[in-house]
Amino acid sequence: MSQDYRLPYKDDLGFCNIIFSAIGGEGANMAAKLLFKLGVEMFDLDGGYDAKYGSEKKGTPTDVSVRFCDYGTPVRSAGPTTQPHFLVAFREFLIRPLSLNRGLQANATVIVNSTKSPEEVRDILQLNSGTVICLDATDIAAKTHSRLNMPMMAMLCYELKFDPEKVKEKVAKQWPKVAQANLAAFDAAVAQSKRATFKDDGKYPLVSFTEHRDERIGYLNMPEGGAIDATRFSTIGKNNRLSGTGFFPKFEQASCITCGMCMTVCSDPGSLKWVDGKMTGIDENYCKGCMRCVAICPSHKKGKALQFPCPEAEALTTGKKV
Ligand code: SF4
Ligand code: SF4
Repeated sequence: MSQDYRLPYKDDLGFCNIIFSAIGGEGANMAAKLLFKLGVEMFDLDGGYDAKYGSEKKGTPTDVSVRFCDYGTPVRSAGPTTQPHFLVAFREFLIRPLSLNRGLQANATVIVNSTKSPEEVRDILQLNSGTVICLDATDIAAKTHSRLNMPMMAMLCYELKFDPEKVKEKVAKQWPKVAQANLAAFDAAVAQSKRATFKDDGKYPLVSFTEHRDERIGYLNMPEGGAIDATRFSTIGKNNRLSGTGFFPKFEQASCITCGMCMTVCSDPGSLKWVDGKMTGIDENYCKGCMRCVAICPSHKKGKALQFPCPEAEALTTGKKV
């Protein structure tokens, strides 16, 4: 435990508030849980943790709230924060539809996965004041064979001034099989980030937190299908690759007998491209690489239409040794 650690922000109740915004399956929840564990076990902090779960299958937005306070601070409120000091946005394209500037405190720190400049992101977010840090976490994750959550979490830990060696030790212990990839992503994040700090120059006001909906949801006005509101956000047309394993099945059209079995097991049926009643291939933007379709695709005299692309993909999804 560290007696020397000081939180960079505190609200009136003594909390430093953090919001992670991501799409289901991108590991925001895992990263936030690990962050919370780190804060409690290694930096002598206390606090609260709340997660909303987004559907990985449907690519639904999710958010996770972490509230840190010094150990011994009386906890006088519960639930997710509505006044973040830190916003960690895994996807820049979520900022507008989800109005992620709602509730952000003055002089907040915003970490965004984006290839844009901090100035451009400030305008997208309509940030009153604070520091915007941009990093191309998608590229870092792809190049290091890690997940999106690693570079994003690395950047947040850096801004929280958590001892990086302690953080890396915990990350390596938590996911030993991918420790090398995760640590590479960790190091690349801080090195490749761009930042700018903005004063309250009158360009954008502080925006208080309000729920998206002005009216209560009931059976008369709930969205079709009940649970997923696609009117504000949809993953259609967007690259969702990083929520998968990074491997995609190999498809041999000549061997396909159009049995449709792959459709019955697919984690995200949008990944299977069917045209005029025929299976034509895999959409890598949506495929999670779970290989369930490979497992169920029948072998017959023409062969097997869906196959493992490489021994590593087979090892990852079946546990078989390479
Ligand atoms: S690997 Fe197959 S079953 Fe899994 S998401 Fe991709 S297409 Fe669907
Ligand atoms: S399970 Fe295999 S053979 Fe059957 S439709 Fe899918 S790809 Fe074709």
